[in-house]
Amino acid sequence: GSRDEIRWDKAPCRYCGTGCSELVGTQNGRVVAVQGDPDAPVNRGLNCIKGYFLAKILYGADRLQQPLLRKRNGRYDKEGEFTPVSWDEAFDIMADKWKAALKEKGPTSVGMFGSGQWTVWEGYAAVKLMKAGLRSNNIDPNARHCMASAVVAFMRAFGSDEPMGVYDDLEHADTFVLWGSNMAEMHPILWSRLSDTRLTKPGTEVMVLSTYQHRSFELADEGITFKPQTDLAILNYIANYIIENEAYDRDFIEAHVTFHRTATDIGYGLRPEDPREQEAANAGSGALTEIGFEEYAESVSEYTLDYVHELSGVPKRQLERLAQAYADPNRKVMSLWTMGMNQHTRGSWVNGLVYNVHLLMGKISEPGNSPFSLTGQPSACGTAREVGTFAHRLPADLVVMNEAHRDFAEKVWKLPEGTIPDKPGYHAVLQSRMLNDGKLNCYWAMCTNNMQAGPNINDEILPGWRNPENFVVVSDPYPTASAMSADLVLPTAMWVEKEGAYGNAERRGQFWRQQVKAPGQARSDLWQIVEFSKRFRTEEVWPAELLDQAPELRGKTLYEILFTNGQVDAFPKQVVVDETGNQYDNDEMEHFGFYLQKGLYEEYRRFSLEGPKPGHELGEFDHYHRVRGLRWPVIDGKETLWRYREGYDPHVPEGAGVQFYGNPDGRARIISAPYEPPAEVPDDEYDLWLCTGRVLEHWHTGSMTRRVPELHRAQPNALLYMHEADARKRDLRRGMAAKIQTRRGEVTATVETRGRNKVPEGLVFIAFFDEGRLVNKLTLDATCPLSKETDFKKCAAKVVAV
Ligand code: SF4
Repeated sequence: GSRDEIRWDKAPCRYCGTGCSELVGTQNGRVVAVQGDPDAPVNRGLNCIKGYFLAKILYGADRLQQPLLRKRNGRYDKEGEFTPVSWDEAFDIMADKWKAALKEKGPTSVGMFGSGQWTVWEGYAAVKLMKAGLRSNNIDPNARHCMASAVVAFMRAFGSDEPMGVYDDLEHADTFVLWGSNMAEMHPILWSRLSDTRLTKPGTEVMVLSTYQHRSFELADEGITFKPQTDLAILNYIANYIIENEAYDRDFIEAHVTFHRTATDIGYGLRPEDPREQEAANAGSGALTEIGFEEYAESVSEYTLDYVHELSGVPKRQLERLAQAYADPNRKVMSLWTMGMNQHTRGSWVNGLVYNVHLLMGKISEPGNSPFSLTGQPSACGTAREVGTFAHRLPADLVVMNEAHRDFAEKVWKLPEGTIPDKPGYHAVLQSRMLNDGKLNCYWAMCTNNMQAGPNINDEILPGWRNPENFVVVSDPYPTASAMSADLVLPTAMWVEKEGAYGNAERRGQFWRQQVKAPGQARSDLWQIVEFSKRFRTEEVWPAELLDQAPELRGKTLYEILFTNGQVDAFPKQVVVDETGNQYDNDEMEHFGFYLQKGLYEEYRRFSLEGPKPGHELGEFDHYHRVRGLRWPVIDGKETLWRYREGYDPHVPEGAGVQFYGNPDGRARIISAPYEPPAEVPDDEYDLWLCTGRVLEHWHTGSMTRRVPELHRAQPNALLYMHEADARKRDLRRGMAAKIQTRRGEVTATVETRGRNKVPEGLVFIAFFDEGRLVNKLTLDATCPLSKETDFKKCAAKVVAV
């Protein structure tokens, strides 16, 4: 077309785990428009408000365009001013710092904090650089704060990560139950599909559970407010109800389920050095003991209607109606959850308790019967989980603690045996503590804003970053709270300024082409990772014993052995064109001289095709570029809708009906876990529950959406939602400023007693998108001891007039 014509091409939305597809309009090298992609099966032409204004995130006035290093008198100085430097100077000082730390303290002194917003190959390249190149498992994604509990529960119950169901369940279910999920704001497009079903299919019902009333309650046939943490008890009550009424599916249980008890003698992970916690985490199973059905039934028998009503504050009628929906063999139930269950000191348990009730009823792995864990970030699944960016993981569901898994990874990567360390690295919260303690000294945060999103910022995160012993690098398109707390800031290309791939919550991988150039010297995270690897020679970072095994690697750079190993560089530079003949840039391919993204992807794909854990098969690179995504396992070019079910999942043999093949015995595990009180509860002084979360208009910490004028105007500041009676008691009114204080810090915000959230007495809610009030100064960093995910949803606070 002519220069002035708008060229349209597809790309998944940059924000949430829903994974809507957009059509991106570019003209004269700029993205000028976006629209919902009418051919996209996920969103069918719709976008939410964030998606509609997506193009504007590229063009904020303060976009970073050059590396910035803290300097004084022309030299790096931790207390110096940010000064523009070249990429060479930036990588030089990074490499110096990294090499010094590695020499002095070994691989555990370097670390990386990554992202569920990394593209698939960015995450994969980062894993290779850290776990193989630098031989440090200290890489963890921000998904630790988001999906880690879901991962542990999937692995414990099914031996394989990610949902068995798909979004199609939204059209098939009769009852939808939202557990700690405000889909109306956080997954608006999925919510519109759910609403469609509710409003058009007779007999559909929606139940919404939360600790306060939010937007999703507007559609609820049953809006259920429970006391924080008692979801554990409510789920056990449902299981008890199913058993007492003999509603469970005997045949299904006999054929497909085993029962277990979980170890409960582990703390909240406040200090995870405790060897018992390490042991539980490393085992990945949290020390399970197999039990019989009777013992399981006995374990839930204390969760009677009276007891759970008392504990949770939920009216008995509501509890019964909820239990009936699950227990009715004629109703198909879809359970949906997000952060309310994952960010929980017993997040791994509570996720598992949902599986328990679905498994008791056999309501799983078929259209409409679907326990469905929603993800927050666009590639929480595709990148953070699947390529192995967690501190204990390797690609395609493998883990560093398993020798066969490490061997396989070393074989695919063509590296000597023993390259990958066998101990899990520091998880996100531990990274902050180790920075604080001076044990982790070189730290690279990419594509995430932990100085606003992480827990207990004042006490744990900021002091670690500013520790004079440490050197912290942040790669970001904008000067976020994190960037401004670092020692070196690297300007990053975003979204369609690079070729990318994301994997959404329903296992759908979606690819896109590079549409425009990044501004100034901004470069993709992939480029940064791969370029940085050129700065290290094997003998500088590997012990002699390892190199003795593979003398041919001596003298080579990490770049040579990781990224030009005959596989990654196997695909020659080519012109990227779409079906209609439009041509696209690919800056990485141009720079490195080969199709870097394709090479990385095809190497990574080998883990899914040849690895020890079947069921994660990915499709061909070029195939994804032609279609609106494919849901894995992709076999013979065909995607899989319902996993573990004959007829849908090609891994299930004929006649088996259902097979949970992630576990060696082909059965899913029902794991009994009790109610346990929260890590911190309100008392006389800190007399309120504090809950944090998100809003429709902003993406997480607002670093992108607050630069979009329409979105910023719609939600300029985070408001403190509180009950009118609570406000009155403190001489506060709507619109007044108030201070929220916890044992860890305080912030000031405007009181809101109306609006989109109706909080009960005794609880306050404030969102964390607002850089002007860093709400996570307040939050407790107690974690689920199994998943190491922090509970952002409950701690004790007080509110006082300013
Ligand atoms: Fe879809 Fe989420 Fe993007 Fe909204 S933010 S358009 S729901 S992917």
